[in-house]
This record gives sequence, structure tokens and C-alpha cells, in this order.
Amino acid sequence: MGGTPPFMVAGEGPYLTDADGNTYVDLVCSWGPLILGHNHPAVAEAVGAAAAKGTSYGAPTPGEVELAEEIVSRTAVEKVRLVNSGTEATMSAIRVARAATGRRKVIKFAGNYHGHVDALLASAGSGVATFGLPDSPGVTGASAADTIVLPYNDIDAVTAAFAEAGDGEDGIACVIAEACPANMGVVPPKDGFNARLKEIAAAHGALLVLDEVLTGFRVTSSGWFGVDGVAADLVTFGKVMGGGLPAAAFGGRADLMELLTPAGPVYQAGTLSGNPLATAAGLATLRNATPEVYARIDSVAAQVSRAASEELSAAGVAHRVQHGGSLFTIFFTDAEVTDFAGAKAQNTAQFAAFFHAMLEQGIYLPAAAFEAWFFSAAHDAAAVERVLGALPKAARAAAQAQ
Ligand SMILES: *Cc1c(COP(=O)(O)O)cnc(C)c1O
Repeated sequence: MGGTPPFMVAGEGPYLTDADGNTYVDLVCSWGPLILGHNHPAVAEAVGAAAAKGTSYGAPTPGEVELAEEIVSRTAVEKVRLVNSGTEATMSAIRVARAATGRRKVIKFAGNYHGHVDALLASAGSGVATFGLPDSPGVTGASAADTIVLPYNDIDAVTAAFAEAGDGEDGIACVIAEACPANMGVVPPKDGFNARLKEIAAAHGALLVLDEVLTGFRVTSSGWFGVDGVAADLVTFGKVMGGGLPAAAFGGRADLMELLTPAGPVYQAGTLSGNPLATAAGLATLRNATPEVYARIDSVAAQVSRAASEELSAAGVAHRVQHGGSLFTIFFTDAEVTDFAGAKAQNTAQFAAFFHAMLEQGIYLPAAAFEAWFFSAAHDAAAVERVLGALPKAARAAAQAQ
């Protein structure tokens, strides 16, 4: 985006304060985790109480079991394992898929982001898209060779890739997809897309891994699963379930999860996985993520996205608002965005002008055209008013940038 980013020193409810004492309405929410807002009393108290009893034991704890139970009760996964980041979750899920099928190849979709796992960085979303990197230096040809990158929302490409790879050892172990992509901006799956992925994978003896690191426990009490009901063989979680501390998870069918050590031969471990601070933050967050929280976030996101669209229209700026539950992105283009090529075709100079005009007025948006806007239950009427008040000037700035 250019410019010097503000350095933040405190967060409270919907607000962030920077090192110079400026406050912002935060529409990043730590890139998703803070569904209750900053410094929520229940989360702060749970973390403080846990820290007072020591930070890590290197042994099983009740908290990790309770967090796992909370995840299992909200989703279709039968067993779950805690890790420290979404990156670890997708990396480990792919290891399980390869072990279960005895195959090497993985299908991923352009513009989908699964953390910075070497094999999954090809045509990735999020920061990789923002910086315009085709792939990342430092990833060897060998670790990328087994990755097949396909255009998103293109079932025919998936069918063709399976036909070409065959069902042998060189075949496809799994298809991994964001349950509803939000790292190239929000590009929801076409109706039935995830269900078809599952059918096609199953027909070829491969697995479906749905990545709910961003959508899990954010777009509904379960995640995108609560929207389309597709139960993948393996699912990855992160962000909201850590409540702002490092916690993530992967889970799925019991027979697959039992391949992991110590029950099975697939190695996976982590010194701080399931540590008591992170599980306390995650549990406090999920237990306070009530139906009212989701209803509030849905209504605020609808109100702000509608107002932003009206102001952009009034300023004569071509744009398109795309929703995935309460997540949304304003693409500066008039065409519907169904894949990464479409997302990249937007006018990012207009987004940059819009972003900076919002920032100058104290609204902290994701500093990238390829991200979603994030709200929390702490975004009250006063915070929303501030956002709405900043929109006309930002829309005019975008109009001038074309
Ligand atoms: C954020 C994200 C990840 C990576 O999680 P980290 O905790 O940053 O490693 C993976 N997948 C998706 C869909 C994400 O949004």
C-alpha cells in the first residue's frame, strides 16, 4: 500500500491505538481471530488466570481436551489434534492424506492460501498475492513438483486433473481448498462446488481437505460447514479458535486421525501445541461466541458493506461487493470475481487510494486488496458511525485514482 504502517500498542473493543496515540476502528481484528473484539474481559481474565498457573507443562492438560471437545461439538470432525498455527494444520493434514492414500500429488487452487507450507505456496493468496509473487523463492522444485494448481471454481479442471494423474502411486492424495476462499478477497464457492470436490475425490480414492482456518467459528458457530454442510475428510482450523493466541487444529474422520502417532505411524508433534494459555484464550472465545455474537457481526457487516457500496456508486466507482457470510471484500471491478484471475483484474490503485483515505480518517482496513474486512461483536453503534462517516471521502479518493 505504500506509506508507513502505524505501529499498534493497544487494543480495546473495536479500537486500536498506535504508538503516536491515534485511535482507529479496527476492521482487521488480527486478520480474523478477534471475533469478540480486543481485550474482551472473559478472554483477558482466562489468559491471566492461566498465566498465573504457569505457561506450559509439556504434558496433557484438561484445557486442550475441552478445546478439542468444543471443536468436535460444533463441526463434523470426529477427532482433532491441536497445533500452533494454521500453517502447521494444513501441512499436517496433507501429510495424513498422503499417508492414508499412499499417493504424492496434491491439488490446490490458485488464489487459495493455506499458510506458508512450501508445497502450498504456488499461486497462493494473502500476502503472496499482495506482493504479486508467482511463487516464493526458497521453495525447491522438488517440494512444488507434486502440487497441481488449478483455477478456482472450475470443476472441469479438477475432473481433468484426476483423469490425467490416474489412481496409482503418482496419483492425487487430496484436494485442498479454502471452504470459502477469502485470501484473494472473498470468492465464494459456486453452488455445490465443495460437494462436487468431495464426490470427485472420493470416486478416485482421494481425500478432500477443507481449510477453515479463516472461516471456522467466524462465519457461523461452526464455520463454512454451517453454510454448505459439506463434511470434508480432513478439516483445518485456526484464527478464532485461538482467541488471539497461537492455537490451531486439524481434524476429521477418526480412521484418518488414528494414523497419527502415537496410535499410528504418521509423525506429528509440537513443543507448545495445546499450551494452557492458548487453550484458555480459545475456550473463552468460543464459549462467548454466542448466537447473538454472530447475529451482531452479520448485521454490522451487512450495514457497512451496503453503505460502502452506496458511497462508491455515488462517486461513480466501478466495484463489486462479494460476501462469504459476514466476510466481504469490495473488489474495484464491475465483473463478478469467481477465481484468482478475476481478483487480480481489479483496480488495485483505486483500492490503495480508498485504503489510505480511510486510514487518515482513523479506520484501519486490511492493507491489501486481496483480503476480507473483519468485524467483531465489539463493533458497536459508535464504531460503526465512525466507519460510515469516513466512507464518502474514501469513495471520492478512489474515484480520483482511476
Ligand atoms: C491464515 C490462514 C492460514 C495460515 O494460518 P497461520 O496461523 O497464519 O499459519 C491457513 N489457511 C487459511 C485459509 C488462512 O486464512
